[in-house]
Amino acid sequence: MKKLAILGSTGSIGVSTLDIVASAPDRFKVEALTGGKNIELLAEQIKAFSPKVVSVLDKEDAAQLAGMLPSANRPEIFSGVEGMIAAATTPDADMVVAAIVGAAGLVPTAAAIKAGKDIALANKETLVTAGRLFMDMVKKAGVKLYPVDSEHSAVFQSIEGHRKQDISKIILTASGGPFLHTLIDQLKNVTVQDALNHPNWSMGKKITIDSATMMNKGLEVIEAKWLFDTEVDKIKVNIHPQSIIHSMVEYIDGCVIAQLGTPDMKTPIAYALSYPERIPTGVKPLDLTDIGELTFLKPDMEKFPCLKLAYEAIKAGESMPAVMNAANEVAVEAFLKGILRFVQIPKLIQMVIDQHEPKEFSCVEDVLKVDLWSRKKSREVMKTL
Ligand code: NAD
Ligand code: MG
Repeated sequence: MKKLAILGSTGSIGVSTLDIVASAPDRFKVEALTGGKNIELLAEQIKAFSPKVVSVLDKEDAAQLAGMLPSANRPEIFSGVEGMIAAATTPDADMVVAAIVGAAGLVPTAAAIKAGKDIALANKETLVTAGRLFMDMVKKAGVKLYPVDSEHSAVFQSIEGHRKQDISKIILTASGGPFLHTLIDQLKNVTVQDALNHPNWSMGKKITIDSATMMNKGLEVIEAKWLFDTEVDKIKVNIHPQSIIHSMVEYIDGCVIAQLGTPDMKTPIAYALSYPERIPTGVKPLDLTDIGELTFLKPDMEKFPCLKLAYEAIKAGESMPAVMNAANEVAVEAFLKGILRFVQIPKLIQMVIDQHEPKEFSCVEDVLKVDLWSRKKSREVMKTL
């Protein structure tokens, strides 16, 4: 029986994770759950999975949540960062599913690693902001780290049983998002609804916008660099609009190994939870004769400058990806609120990056300071746009 703490259980990845848990009650048990503001859903999840520890963002929500639950099976309910840490370090949990969105996931995930928990990592922003420190913590604590992101799960599966020195390239696939065929000068007119209309994947709002700007792929390049300890120049991006091949690994002899499947996050989530075993997920089996054609294109860095920004940021110096990530989080939130236009997202990030002198990090607190600086600067810069 694997005991889980799920951080961000009310989100898209969190809900899919709980679906898998519900379908395999003899395999998984939920020890802890955390959510942000959606306490109605969290209350339902608590009733269904009986965790011992729960945490929400605000104190008031914690009190309200307690009132929604019968006292007989009420878990301990915490709030804030301390609460997320309590959930992430719950003594009985073996594995923590890191599915909070954004850099907010860094502190609880780091606490989980230090507490010796294995990690199923969806929250790519933690690796983007603190990659080297994060991987050092994983090594030092001797915990296992399994990728949940579909591309990284595909790479993980395509390198199993192979020697690292034989890898010549990691090829991440990208759907191209809703604006793959939109002309570059039309991008200034796209709406929030257009950007949220992802062709293949159903995901949380932030990552859906990141997919439309292709920042998501930029974050994933950095994520892959840290997960697979690879030089960033060996990580390529192929646009593959059908999202059937989830990524590939090229070897020095010319062989390319790819992982395929119907685009559904339950497949990579289940593999991270049950590795090395495979379990049924209910995902529609892939019939390539139904798909017919798989096509590929080179990414257009001019039309999607966020991808280029990510390649540049990881080369610029250790703190730059954290600056880029925080600026992106602020920009995406502003776009979703209708304050910023779609094409202003990369502009804002570039302006913040231009004002930052990259430095080395020595601890997670350094990352948090840079993250905070970038958010403040982003809000200032936004006023000038
Ligand atoms: P989501 O927005 O649907 O869910 C995010 C979860 O985090 C929710 O439970 C929310 O309440 C919680 N949360 C939000 N802000 C928080 C904060 N400040 N503090 C604590 N909790 C907070 O997001 P998602 O789509 O499930 O994505 C989660 C993570 O997984 C992201 O890092 C994303 O990039 C990654 N990911 C998602 C998918 C996907 O298909 N959705 C695929 C690959 C990777
Ligand atoms: Mg992905």
